Amino acid sequence: MATGEPIKALATLPAVYEILAHPRLAALAAKTDHALLVAEIQRRLAQHREALRADGGTPPDADAVAAEVAKIVEGWFEPRLKPVINLTGTLLHTNLGRAPLSEAAVAAMTAASGTVNLEYDLGRGKRGDRDTLIEELLCRLSGAEAATIVNNNAAAVYLTLNTLADRKRVAVSRGELVEIGDSFRIPDIVKKSGCKLMEVGTTNRTHPADYQRALEEGATVLLKVHASNYRIQGFTHEVSLVELVALGRKHNVPVVTDLGSGAFVDMRRWGLAGEPTVQESVAAGADVVTFSGDKLLGGPQAGLIVGRVEAIKRIKRNPMKRALRCDKLILAALEATLRAYLSPATIEQSLPAYRLIGRPLAEIERLMQDVLPPIERWAAGRAGVAVEPGRSQVGSGSLPDQTLETRIIALTPLRGSPETLAQALRELRPPVIGRVHGGKVLLDLRGLPDAQPLIEALAAAARP
Ligand SMILES: *Cc1c(COP(=O)(O)O)cnc(C)c1O
Repeated sequence: MATGEPIKALATLPAVYEILAHPRLAALAAKTDHALLVAEIQRRLAQHREALRADGGTPPDADAVAAEVAKIVEGWFEPRLKPVINLTGTLLHTNLGRAPLSEAAVAAMTAASGTVNLEYDLGRGKRGDRDTLIEELLCRLSGAEAATIVNNNAAAVYLTLNTLADRKRVAVSRGELVEIGDSFRIPDIVKKSGCKLMEVGTTNRTHPADYQRALEEGATVLLKVHASNYRIQGFTHEVSLVELVALGRKHNVPVVTDLGSGAFVDMRRWGLAGEPTVQESVAAGADVVTFSGDKLLGGPQAGLIVGRVEAIKRIKRNPMKRALRCDKLILAALEATLRAYLSPATIEQSLPAYRLIGRPLAEIERLMQDVLPPIERWAAGRAGVAVEPGRSQVGSGSLPDQTLETRIIALTPLRGSPETLAQALRELRPPVIGRVHGGKVLLDLRGLPDAQPLIEALAAAARP
């Protein structure tokens, strides 16, 4: 046991009732659950008791503890999920919520927030099917016969394989056994879907004869995966979807393709090559095509499944469909997003993701003129500021080797590390997220929708 000193100090710690009655907590006490507040005060006092026992020192008074508790409890009422300014140079950043939603999508979510005809057929006055809300639009845009929707593309791949090949064999090229960030690995998802993985060909080269052999050895599904986030270059060969479909037809085995991104417009329009469109994959004859809602589609998180009627019917009957279905808000946002593709010529105006992708360099340079002076003011005494040319990437696993020209503000810390400087930017409101590279913090302006929120965040930080 310690000497008498710390024990005396412990005795002078304020009591719970003193903190509870402190004027600093009056407003918070009125709106916070009493038991939760008391528990927080007790927790904080216990921490002080612990620290006094261990290190001695002077106990804090009631003012100090009340102020500490007030700060913590005020934090309870602040949303943790909040807007940030993405200047990382990755436009559709998986950690930052991927595609920003369009105004139409947000309006549709608001409209759908009350009572809606989610599963109600207004024509017949009877129970309906939530998929029909967007199936027609999805089929019109993709050229597919049928469609269904689940929570994300990982769920779409899972549900498709589990339906078509439970306890059976799925053939995948070794060049497509990829990991797509966040621990989504094709071999794992195939196994978790209840299927047996048949590896076909080699990492760099796979030929029709390799699939032919797999079919003779009992493959029940041929799966083609878009190797989203990397490219195999050099001495390579892959079997095209068209060839795969021909093989599948011959053996009466369905062909599934996981596109990942799922673009509805040809990305070559913005100088980005190598992204197959959904329409092309459907036209190639795939039985099932799966893709994400929040990557190049530019909508909410969702997994879209389109294809031939028989396959989609079976997928919809899988009991797991119920566990993976989307809610009304997602369906509302998805419907509004898909509708933008009825007018693909104006996609840059209707979908924010394409506004950023399609933005001309001159516009980025105009933004630069607006934000450079406030950034220089903020950086004064902290960092050197320089403008550099750079390249942005689309992100979310799409188009890994294709980039877009941009302008970057490079901050070189005068003292301290670039990580500390990046942290200071994250403490702005809203937080500004850059990327640390080569001893600098790089702020890529292609991802900045408007100058104003950034200018205001910087100005607010300058005020005392
Ligand atoms: C991103 C991706 C997935 C996972 O999609 P989520 O919508 O994130 O679940 C699956 N397959 C491929 C090829 C991908 O690029």
